[in-house]
Amino acid sequence: MPAGTRRIEVSYRASGADARTVVDLGLRGPAGLRGWSGGSRSTIWVSALGATPGYLSGPVEPGPWAVLLGVPNIRAGRTDTVDVTVRFFTDDLPAGQAIAGRGPGWFVGDLHAHSGHSDGRVRSRRGAATGTPPYMVAEAARAAGLDFLALTDHNTASHWLDIDRLQPYYDDLLLLRGREVTTYRGHANTVGERTFHEFRLPAPDSSPAALLAPIAGGGAFVSINHPALPDGEACMGCGWNVTEPAVMRSVHGVEVVNGDTAEGLLAGWAFWARMLSAGHRLTAVGGSDEHTVDDDADRRLGRPATVVWAEALSESAIVDGLKRGRAYVRVRGPQGPTLDFHAEHDGVRVEMGEEAPAGGTLTLVATVGGAAGQTLQWIADGAVVAASAASAASLRLDQPATPGRWFSLVVRDASGPTLISSAIHIRR
Ligand SMILES: [Zn+2]
Ligand SMILES: [Zn+2]
Repeated sequence: MPAGTRRIEVSYRASGADARTVVDLGLRGPAGLRGWSGGSRSTIWVSALGATPGYLSGPVEPGPWAVLLGVPNIRAGRTDTVDVTVRFFTDDLPAGQAIAGRGPGWFVGDLHAHSGHSDGRVRSRRGAATGTPPYMVAEAARAAGLDFLALTDHNTASHWLDIDRLQPYYDDLLLLRGREVTTYRGHANTVGERTFHEFRLPAPDSSPAALLAPIAGGGAFVSINHPALPDGEACMGCGWNVTEPAVMRSVHGVEVVNGDTAEGLLAGWAFWARMLSAGHRLTAVGGSDEHTVDDDADRRLGRPATVVWAEALSESAIVDGLKRGRAYVRVRGPQGPTLDFHAEHDGVRVEMGEEAPAGGTLTLVATVGGAAGQTLQWIADGAVVAASAASAASLRLDQPATPGRWFSLVVRDASGPTLISSAIHIRR
């Protein structure tokens, strides 16, 4: 096995199926049998963080391994051939799965939810308090009409095995391997990690930069959670106060709405706005932070929902879409208003999340559906510069394209925001 191997994949092909030759597959590691799939699978894999159903996840340890072949039937006098391919990988997990036949387009999901792999709780069949089985979160996501769900249990990666194994059944809901990196100096969500990363700060006053850099470097989307929550005995480490460049370089987004708590709602947005004005390009996302899928009393899955434009409904495409920032938040749930928000600069179209060159005039263009009677607020550098009646016809606003400016939208009714957009930026 090559040095650095963390995942083994075995595939095989046997001749003679037409003559009822049958070849079974299994895998043995140095510590014993890892699994046996008979003749039902042609490809299997194992790693510390996952394995094909029927196989045990666990370290891919050095020592003697064996591909096991069984031959329950071959007719007398026949000779058949088995081709076995063994591949070695340096990551723990294959790329996340995809929902076939979807995209490109807008997808609606929840980027923040907990199961019994951390502190998600439900009532058991007989009424006792117990940890939420991950399938119940998936069921709630389908009931809410979501296209994707990131399960973001605190710090652990133990739920990723459940995600991988639930996904083939949920072929109408993309399940994302998420994680809430919960430090004593703030919480950050990740989507799309391919290995398990450290979450413990080396010392109480250490910067989270050392934790976030390898996660972002590995390709995952990283967002700061509920930045405006208190940080103290009421909620230790819940707020986010660490905004030094080394940290912000590894962050792609900010959770501008967490749950539906009215007081937290615009406070998260205000933090995001401050970071944008400081020159960071960050996607505005939302997360329900649902912990009790059998109880609607406080939070509900998909409220808020994040809507993102992606090339496909797959882990890599959603992660890519979130990083690009063509995304907005439906504050009150998945069935909220729709938005197309872009700009025109010298005849060139600039999408939400992108950057336009400085100089001249930028024309902002917004089309809002499903928000009759609501107000569209045009935001520049964090302040409202104009307001219009929200409309399914295109609304336009000209603004000077001064270096470093940024523009976003908020749609609201009498009781508060219903939609919060990401931003269009002018180059610094
Ligand atoms: Zn949190
Ligand atoms: Zn959480």
